[in-house]
Amino acid sequence: MKLIRFRIGPILALFTLQPAYAVTREEVTVCLHPDVVVQGQTLAVAEKLAETMLAEASVRSDWCSGRAVREGISIEFSERTPEDFHPGAVAFARPYGSGQITVFYDRILKRYPANLVTAVLGHVLVHEMTHVLQGIDRHSECGVMRAHWTSADLNQMATKPLSFTAEDIELIQRGIEARTWVRADSRPEYRTMAMRTTPNDSAGR
Ligand SMILES: [Zn+2]
Repeated sequence: MKLIRFRIGPILALFTLQPAYAVTREEVTVCLHPDVVVQGQTLAVAEKLAETMLAEASVRSDWCSGRAVREGISIEFSERTPEDFHPGAVAFARPYGSGQITVFYDRILKRYPANLVTAVLGHVLVHEMTHVLQGIDRHSECGVMRAHWTSADLNQMATKPLSFTAEDIELIQRGIEARTWVRADSRPEYRTMAMRTTPNDSAGR
């Protein structure tokens, strides 16, 4: 993610605009790499923010420390990111394969004012987790899944979390269903089909 432009849709609208798509409350395990060095309570507060935001998409996140479980999302933090590695991005996800997320924490610290770091980190976690949950590399015109947040978005983040669009939520639910389907059926041909949708990783926001 680079800088972001932002606008929030009314939260109620997200749900009233839901298509004829059953929204179920799904649980996802999120494992943070143990080598993370994040200042003070920043990570704990960012986790809580991410948990709250994901709940709006009917996703319950179960956070743990350690290597990812097989079906979970793994998040690692980079503290010395080379300038030429995903330049401009503050995180990137691998939505088509491992479900791993890398957060360039050093870039977040450099780019955003200290009073916004926690909120930005929480939003970054949600943004990248959404890429993984949806299983596709896409962005929305507004909300937390916008590709580039603006200063207005950042101001909004300071007081109220950015929202998902109705399409974001629908695609999260579809992605979770797809993953469940692959997980529930161990036949090799189905796993191969899933693997075919792996062109490359999603870089940054
Ligand atoms: Zn993105």
